[in-house]
Amino acid sequence: MSRRRLLPPEPPPCLLRRRPSSQKGGTLIAEDVWDRGEHEQRLCAPDGYRPSFCRKCSGVVLHVHDYRERRLRAEPGRPVARIIRHSCVACAAIWQTLPAFLARHLWRTWPVVERAMTGARATAAEPDRRAAAWPKVPERTQRRWRSRWFAAARFLVRIVAACGEEIWAALAQTLGLDATRADLVAAYAASIATPAGRRLGAVAALIDRLEPQVRLM
Ligand SMILES: [Zn+2]
Repeated sequence: MSRRRLLPPEPPPCLLRRRPSSQKGGTLIAEDVWDRGEHEQRLCAPDGYRPSFCRKCSGVVLHVHDYRERRLRAEPGRPVARIIRHSCVACAAIWQTLPAFLARHLWRTWPVVERAMTGARATAAEPDRRAAAWPKVPERTQRRWRSRWFAAARFLVRIVAACGEEIWAALAQTLGLDATRADLVAAYAASIATPAGRRLGAVAALIDRLEPQVRLM
């Protein structure tokens, strides 16, 4: 028995826009950095975040260019994250590397966004006392996020299906073309055991790796 449901609405254009590739450098996501402690360690280690090669010219000599501060809103703890940028000696492209927990474009960390969308705690062990300290995300912001969360994931499913990796092709197959972004995240978390708090960030990083500049949220 099939249960017909309404097609999800299209996502806003900002989630689909692709910047021209003439841009010198760009953003890389460190998909294995999920907490502040690890992030600080990587910042301090000389090669912690140094890209192994330049995505623009394949050059292998990259130097630290500078550090930038990213302000975060509605963040438990310190509302700032320091971000490192490297420059390629050969072509002068500048690459900033973001830890996986930072939600690009949203001024938040992914656990904050995930918590607002799903109610999931960052970790099962998170004490309630600390949970109460999470600042509230304004209702208007949550509404905007929710409209993206329940928007069509068709474009993302196509990207995942076409990437040539069997595991992602299978994932796309289970979703079909009328899945929402929430469905995509749920299916990802079911197929790759992903702890709560990391689910949105993991899918966003995957999409960014397969098709840079395309956004989950
Ligand atoms: Zn280069």
